[in-house]
Amino acid sequence: MSGADLIIAAPALVTLPVQGTRKRFPVRRVYCVGRNYAEHVREMGGDERDLPFFFQKPTDSIETDGARIPYPSVTHDFQHEVELVLAIGQEGERVAISDAASHVFGVAVGIDLTRRDVQVAARKTGRPWEIGKSFDRSAPCGELVALKGELPAKGAIELQVNGSIRQKGDLAQMIWSAAEIVSALSMQYRLYPGDLIFTGTPAGVGPLDTGDQICAQVEGLPPLQISITAPTL
Ligand code: MN
Repeated sequence: MSGADLIIAAPALVTLPVQGTRKRFPVRRVYCVGRNYAEHVREMGGDERDLPFFFQKPTDSIETDGARIPYPSVTHDFQHEVELVLAIGQEGERVAISDAASHVFGVAVGIDLTRRDVQVAARKTGRPWEIGKSFDRSAPCGELVALKGELPAKGAIELQVNGSIRQKGDLAQMIWSAAEIVSALSMQYRLYPGDLIFTGTPAGVGPLDTGDQICAQVEGLPPLQISITAPTL
């Protein structure tokens, strides 16, 4: 179908840069794992033996490296969560853990931006998490690096705000490995090329303010830097 057949302009395609090429990765869906590092589960008052669960963010909530993100509306506790992101390159459902890597095109650093106060209030009243998790500009993601071989199972994961370390952990602390996450998610949804999976955050989540400069890093991947600007809404 061409643009001439559409009654309004088509929404922009959301894409991520890929290291070493000018070609970009088109994003289809953005899945996130709820809790996946024991220390963070405990800081959120949960039980680390719980099974992982998934939620989604809108595709157009993706932001790229260097983004200037306005402090969002309806929150007074806007927080950072640094996460390893998996980018699906091959369709599949009921994917075996041993086969998970073959469905992943590449990996990146992401930040699951969260309106924590609103998320907690929604949880307490049994309402959906959308307003706390799935808002505009809530999914910054860095440059993708094509996977060569196995999925990352260890390596430092860290987030700094204005040069001070706020989150520091290791991918080895993930309760559910990257392969287990791909497999578990593929039991609930058919995965397609273009799907992203944010794999959960280590301990140390905390508030952000207007003017903050954030640097998120996973060992071996290009860092992701964003800044928070004055609210617009
Ligand atoms: Mn998260």
